[in-house]
Amino acid sequence: MTKQAAFLVLNAGSSSLKFSAFRQHSSSDELETLLSGQVSGIGGTARFEARGADRRRLAEHVWDEQDSRCRDTLLQYVLHWIRTTLVDDEIVAVGHRVVHGGRALGKPMRVSPCLLDELDRLIPLAPLHQPHNLAPIRILAKRFPDLEQVACFDTAFHSTQPWLARTYALPQALTDEGVCSYGFHGLSYEYVTGQLLARRPDLADKHIVICHLGNGSSVCAVKGGQSIDTSMGFSALDGLPMGTRSGSIDPGVILYLMREKQMGLEALEDLLYKQSGLLGVSGLSNDMKVLQEAESPQAARAVDLFCFRVAKEVAALAASMGGFDALVFTAGIGENSPQIRARVGERLAWLGVKIDAGANAGNADDIAHADSSVPVFVLPTNEEMMIAKHTIKVLGQMMGNA
Ligand code: AMP
Repeated sequence: MTKQAAFLVLNAGSSSLKFSAFRQHSSSDELETLLSGQVSGIGGTARFEARGADRRRLAEHVWDEQDSRCRDTLLQYVLHWIRTTLVDDEIVAVGHRVVHGGRALGKPMRVSPCLLDELDRLIPLAPLHQPHNLAPIRILAKRFPDLEQVACFDTAFHSTQPWLARTYALPQALTDEGVCSYGFHGLSYEYVTGQLLARRPDLADKHIVICHLGNGSSVCAVKGGQSIDTSMGFSALDGLPMGTRSGSIDPGVILYLMREKQMGLEALEDLLYKQSGLLGVSGLSNDMKVLQEAESPQAARAVDLFCFRVAKEVAALAASMGGFDALVFTAGIGENSPQIRARVGERLAWLGVKIDAGANAGNADDIAHADSSVPVFVLPTNEEMMIAKHTIKVLGQMMGNA
């Protein structure tokens, strides 16, 4: 029996490796999710968990400490499990999430030794993420030299932003060497924009603000299907307070901490990436659901601060675009927390937002009140699906050029 072509998507982080497999329907461009899962706890006690398209758990595995440190071993296990599970399919290509494409890589690219060298040169721009994203690409390239791989960048969707949105008021030489705003969560914004415009093509030329609110959070201004501005900048620390990341703070705070507390690079990195945000303010948890259910006043303050800052960033982006015609919530918090959506909506009432309490409580996809002058949507994101679509497109272009 001829096997069907399947596409694997890998999203490799510092301590996790997420995977999904997709199959393209022969009769349409639609993609079907076959399975998904992750290896978590890499470097400590690594655990494998996989689920079918119906979210039913298919398999689990736990490694000993030594194997938990070996990314090669973990990746081999995942591949072997997928190959023996998807007996009717053959993985023909792998798409990877890569956080940084720099200024030059504004679209997904087929992996080649040249591209990997270029992506290595971008490591200083994303030292905590880029090396982990590139590791499985290299492992696969070595073991399966004929397997096609495509790199999809979180920064790429923002490459359309105008100079004004990208530039910091720093000496030109620093801007020239790449110290500028890039923006992240691009694959999520691209997917959600596609979903919104498929549903509401009349919004294509309107001013849309998308709130990607999850463990990492940002907001993005979209017009004409393109990113115009976003709250994250040079790094994924910028903009909104997140689970454990500070979001924007006065750079003078860093100078103070260095001078008065003698904090060095590692201590600052730990403070800003791992000890701040919802966790830092609440002293309790980085998890929004936990904070919403907690009784403590500090937890309530962390939630207050989050809603305040989301609304402030949305308004800033409306000013940046010169208009505000639609609001979209996505990602873990955006898709699942009626309370956060309601509170952000209340703060944006002066911009014409009014959220319908009943629709919001039910996580409906259209939550605007009949009196709202701005449509408000809740649209689930799917970065893996976006990567799979890009992978298929890049391969299609390659075949077309062959
Ligand atoms: P993500 O990074 O997109 O997976 O989002 C993770 C965040 O979504 C965590 O802070 C979760 O607590 C939050 N989240 C998920 N479900 C809910 C919910 N029902 N209410 C509030 N927050 C939620």
